[in-house]
Amino acid sequence: MTILNGFSVDLEDWFQGLTSTNPQIDRWPTLESRVVLATQTLLAILRTHHVQATFFVLGYVADQYPKLIEQICADGHELGVHGYYHRFVHQLTPDEFTRELEQGIAAVERIIGERPIGHRAPYFSINASTPWAFDCMQKLGLRYDSSVFPTRNLLYGFPGAPRFPYQVEGQSLLEMPVSTLRLGNKILPMVGGFYTRALPYRFTRWAIRQLNQQGHPVITYIHPWELDTGQHYNQVTPRERLTHYHGRQALTAKLHKLFTDFRFTSLDVLFRNFRPNPN
Ligand SMILES: [Zn+2]
Repeated sequence: MTILNGFSVDLEDWFQGLTSTNPQIDRWPTLESRVVLATQTLLAILRTHHVQATFFVLGYVADQYPKLIEQICADGHELGVHGYYHRFVHQLTPDEFTRELEQGIAAVERIIGERPIGHRAPYFSINASTPWAFDCMQKLGLRYDSSVFPTRNLLYGFPGAPRFPYQVEGQSLLEMPVSTLRLGNKILPMVGGFYTRALPYRFTRWAIRQLNQQGHPVITYIHPWELDTGQHYNQVTPRERLTHYHGRQALTAKLHKLFTDFRFTSLDVLFRNFRPNPN
């Protein structure tokens, strides 16, 4: 049986994702918005392969570009929520996080007339320091979260967290972590954003096959700005030059291969198909 894997999109503009420009909210309206163009590129690729994905939408983007959100919905994709201003959850209080969620959920609901059930934290910023975050999500009616990255990188990570979908203790909420690979006693990132761009496709394919052969769906993600080869950043830090620029040219071709070699669907489908492991 072919395994259905999960494909997700963190829908935001380039300057909302960069940690240098993210806190400068007053400057956002003066920066060149490229999210519509970049998302159209991605939607065309998904359409070619008949892939339904989950778009975790930043509330700010939904308020600015409701027609884009309508189009994503009309293409049959699931809409989830990605906060409102793209803030690190572990830098917020539970009340501030709740406000981010409420604003993000309301922005999506106003457009599609339905409440989203899925959430992805900006910068995968749910970790051991935010055990309260799951409670905040559940209180607002969210049913699943996909914010745990069970390894450590430059910017984020939750080392030691479960690697595969699990019911959060004391909650009905399902957590669907981004897929990682175990090599010896090391847990390594294997897919998504920077990793899909930076790693050779042969490695990505091998790693996905490993997980699928063990019976696990792979959960991956992308940002529209990663496909935007026409953009020239005027002001990025050396780290951002690597995390945002590196491997953009080859990403479209990699996605075509990925969707040819494997089956992908939206995360709500994986959520509904989830059966707890009896062990
Ligand atoms: Zn994001």
